Amino acid sequence: MSADTVEKTITSYLAGVCRKPFSYLGKIIEPKVLNVSPLLLRRFSCPPECGACCKSYSLDFLEGEMMPDLPFRERPVEVNGITQIIRTIDNPPESAFCLQLDEHGRCRIHGRHPMPCDLEPIKVIFYRDSQTPNRLTQQLRGRGWRLEQVTGQRGTRCSFLPVDDDTVEEVVRRLERLKVWADAFELDTWLNAVIRWAREPSLRNTPMICCPRLHAYLEGLANEFDA
Ligand code: SF4
Ligand code: SF4
Repeated sequence: MSADTVEKTITSYLAGVCRKPFSYLGKIIEPKVLNVSPLLLRRFSCPPECGACCKSYSLDFLEGEMMPDLPFRERPVEVNGITQIIRTIDNPPESAFCLQLDEHGRCRIHGRHPMPCDLEPIKVIFYRDSQTPNRLTQQLRGRGWRLEQVTGQRGTRCSFLPVDDDTVEEVVRRLERLKVWADAFELDTWLNAVIRWAREPSLRNTPMICCPRLHAYLEGLANEFDA
């Protein structure tokens, strides 16, 4: 069985954007202050002949999400007492790459690829230090230089491009897809507020701070973490 992406979705993305605690696999996931970086809104390029980030992960879909016409298994996943049936297309664990990656490093199912693939390189960066907010941003993979491309070379080929209205709408589209997952498990998140911040040109050049203790968010603050 391939590496499970559902767990990453819940413990990384949903944990990072939640406003209230929720339960998963017998643990309580607590929200932390979230610093939403203006870098979240930039564009990234994904040239051909790479595929370095497309490893043998599970490809997971909610019921009702658009998905490719491929065999899948169904499995129940419970978050915060809500069970959803997840449709999973497995990749063989022994495979170096996702089976949907073609020889030129292109996704054969692009447009019907799963939400976590679609979100990349949006990330929540978690900080263990309780005083340092987590950060929602776009960031290249850590240790990306180690990843193997379809060509056999090492490293990643993506790079970032500046923010414009189109990049904002593309990021909003992806955040809305994440929100479909959050809503499926009835999780209370900051996503509506982040989308509003992203769409407001007078706000989005400065970070947004989301504070679960105050149940409030602040926009337009100086950001010491975006150096
Ligand atoms: S590592 Fe970057 S360039 Fe390579 S496939 Fe992934 S997103 Fe594209
Ligand atoms: S589904 Fe597409 S984007 Fe996702 S890992 Fe496979 S090839 Fe890459």
